[in-house]
Amino acid sequence: MNKDALNALNDIMSQYSTIASHHITDESSKQFLGVRNSICRFCKKTTPDVSFKKDAHALPHCIGNNALFTYNECDLCNYKFGRLLENEFAKFMHLNHTISGVRGKNGYPKYKMDDALIKTTGSNIDWSDVPIENINHNKDAGLIKIKQKIPAFIPIAMYKCFVKMALTLMPDNELVQFENTLDWINEENHQNTKYPFENLLLFHGNVATTERFHGISAILVKRMDNTDRTKPYIMFRLTYATFMFQVPIPLSKMDTTKKVTEFPYIPNLPDLKFGFNKMEIGLMNLHYTESLRGTEMTVTIKDLDGSGTVKYIDA
Ligand SMILES: [Zn+2]
Repeated sequence: MNKDALNALNDIMSQYSTIASHHITDESSKQFLGVRNSICRFCKKTTPDVSFKKDAHALPHCIGNNALFTYNECDLCNYKFGRLLENEFAKFMHLNHTISGVRGKNGYPKYKMDDALIKTTGSNIDWSDVPIENINHNKDAGLIKIKQKIPAFIPIAMYKCFVKMALTLMPDNELVQFENTLDWINEENHQNTKYPFENLLLFHGNVATTERFHGISAILVKRMDNTDRTKPYIMFRLTYATFMFQVPIPLSKMDTTKKVTEFPYIPNLPDLKFGFNKMEIGLMNLHYTESLRGTEMTVTIKDLDGSGTVKYIDA
C-alpha cells in the first residue's frame, strides 16, 4: 500500500466521517432507499399530487447503475432531473463511457460524431473508424490517446447532477441543512438564478488503464465537530469504471465559506495501491451556465497488450 496515499487518507478520516456509503456490483440485487410512496425529497409533494410509479435511479443509469433506486423521488422530479441534469452529464461523459465500456440504459454506448465511430463490446473496444490524425498509438508503451469532440453540454448542469446524487443518498437528518441546495438544483433556468457562483469545483480523475474500479462506489463524508469550519460541510465522492469525481455540496447552512476555492482530496483505491501518479487528476470549475459547444477531449488508455486490444480487468 502506498504510504503517502495512506497518510493522506488517514488525515481526511480524522477530519471527516462517512455518513453514507454504497457499493454496487453487477451481482447487486435491486435495492431502494427510503419508504415506498413517501414524500418526494426534491419537491416535498406526496400522492395524490405526484405519483411514484417509476423506479427512480439513485445514481444515474448511464454510469452502469441498475441496482440502487430511491422511493424518495416522484415521477415528475425523476423526469425533470433526467432531462435537465443527467443528460448533460451523460453528454460530457459520452466519449469516456464508450471507451471505458460503461453499460447504460441502451446497453454499451456508441460514440458517433463527425466522421468518427467508436464501439465497445464491454471487453474490447473498436476505434477503427476514428480518423487516423485523431489517434496517437504508442504500441511499445502500450498507450493510446484518442482525441475527439464531445457533444455540447452545460457545465453547471453536470455539477448539479453530482449534487443531486449526493442529496439522494443523504440521510434524512442532514437534509435540513441543504434547503437552499435543493432549491438551487430545482431551478429550471441555470442563468436566472438566486444563487450565482464564481466557483463550482470538481475533482475528476481517470485511471486511464485497463485496471479499473470494481463496480460503483458512492460515499458522503461529513466534517467532524473539531474540524476547521472553513472546510466544506459535506463532500460527495463517486468512483466507477475508470473514473473518480469528488465535489463539495454547496449552499449548506453549515458552511461558513460561500466561495470554495479548495477542498481536501479523498484518496481512492488506485491511489492507495499504486500511489498518486496512477490516476490523472484534474480540477474543473463548472460554474458556467451556458451550453459549451465543440469541446475536444483526449482520452488516454494505458496498459494495452501488443495488439492494441483493451481487456478490462477489475481492480
Ligand atoms: Zn418531486
